[in-house]
Amino acid sequence: MRFPLRFACFLLAFALLPLYFLQAQTTAPSITLLRPAAVFDGQDLHPGWVVLVEGERIKAVGPADKLPAPAGATTLELPGLTLLPGMIEGHSHLLLHPYNEAQWNDQVLLESQALRVARATAHAQATLLAGFTTARDLGTEGAGYADVGLKQAINQGIIPGPRLLVATRALVATGSYGPKLSVDVDVPQGAQEADGHDGIIRAVREQIGKGADVVKVYADYRWGANEPSRPTFTQDELNLIVKTANAAGRPVVAHAGTPEGMRMATLAGVETIEHGDGGTPEVFQLMKQRGVALCPTVAATDAIARYRGWRKADEPAPERIRQKRQSVQAAIKAGVPLAMGGDAGVFAHGENVRELELLVQEYGLTPLQVLRGVTSDNARLFHLADRGSIRPGLLADLVGVAGDPTQDVRALRQVRLVLKGGVLYRQP
Ligand SMILES: [Zn+2]
Repeated sequence: MRFPLRFACFLLAFALLPLYFLQAQTTAPSITLLRPAAVFDGQDLHPGWVVLVEGERIKAVGPADKLPAPAGATTLELPGLTLLPGMIEGHSHLLLHPYNEAQWNDQVLLESQALRVARATAHAQATLLAGFTTARDLGTEGAGYADVGLKQAINQGIIPGPRLLVATRALVATGSYGPKLSVDVDVPQGAQEADGHDGIIRAVREQIGKGADVVKVYADYRWGANEPSRPTFTQDELNLIVKTANAAGRPVVAHAGTPEGMRMATLAGVETIEHGDGGTPEVFQLMKQRGVALCPTVAATDAIARYRGWRKADEPAPERIRQKRQSVQAAIKAGVPLAMGGDAGVFAHGENVRELELLVQEYGLTPLQVLRGVTSDNARLFHLADRGSIRPGLLADLVGVAGDPTQDVRALRQVRLVLKGGVLYRQP
């Protein structure tokens, strides 16, 4: 699945081979002119524009008549396609698979790390081929530092997958997470337990030292089954997590769903709050003031409700869904930036676009809003200055979809072309 553009024709003959074994053997960077029906550059749609790619980067973009193919360039005709920046998944777990296949507890306790990593390689490929060329992967859920190795395998071209920002093990307060079995046995947890001044500092530094690009903290969780979530860490502990991570140049993201957990995480200085189910106008006002984004993960909420028996077509939305809709509306009203991330892993990898579809179909966002969100907005929120837009000098992470996704978000399912760093992984 990995080959330079100049080998595009040659590769059709080998369509059934595992193409990712064909490594780029180029000496000079190849130049390719992509001629789609339109270009969405991360902000707006431009019919009749073309994109010039040189090596791993975008060389130029503009109207076709102002940008002829230079000498020696290959032209790739993409009739009917809209070309957009490679999409950025804001919240995934490559080490998890859908909870209707295996409960989270069973994945953490019964599945070997080898099995989980093998699955994750398939998940990484599915994510990339769905047009997501970058993913912020927010915790291995008991699989240790396996995400660091996955990222290395992708970067070294051993397996196809998105560029990863990894959180490694994530941090939880002792006793607050799971799995929970008998009180008489201590079982491996889905995240790293850490408490108090020294314990917090050590755990954050350990995760960063082993490769965490972001530090994820669970600011609240349910302490026992069948009870509501409550804050876990103290304000001092949250502050210390952010201070220690930021000193190492890493942002902190927080799982939080209670107003108090969200408030404490915001005051501590996290950059995004994941889920935010119980967000109130007051806490969203605070997030807005502090520049904290919400990653609502509506696709995960939708999937879990359906796993619990919600027959969506002919039953009213359950309480959790209604609450989520209120929360997202309140966030929008307060002007809180939204990160696009669905919590893929709870549902199938490769179905990442569900988050965008639901935000349009059930939460009132426009296709243009989610498109900007999943490209340029996510890039800005995650400090990825080298991608998320189609501009000269940025990475040639490009996706071609059939139709016009600025009019109909479902076009994002019609992925025909995937280019990552100038390397073709999928072509019409
Ligand atoms: Zn998650």
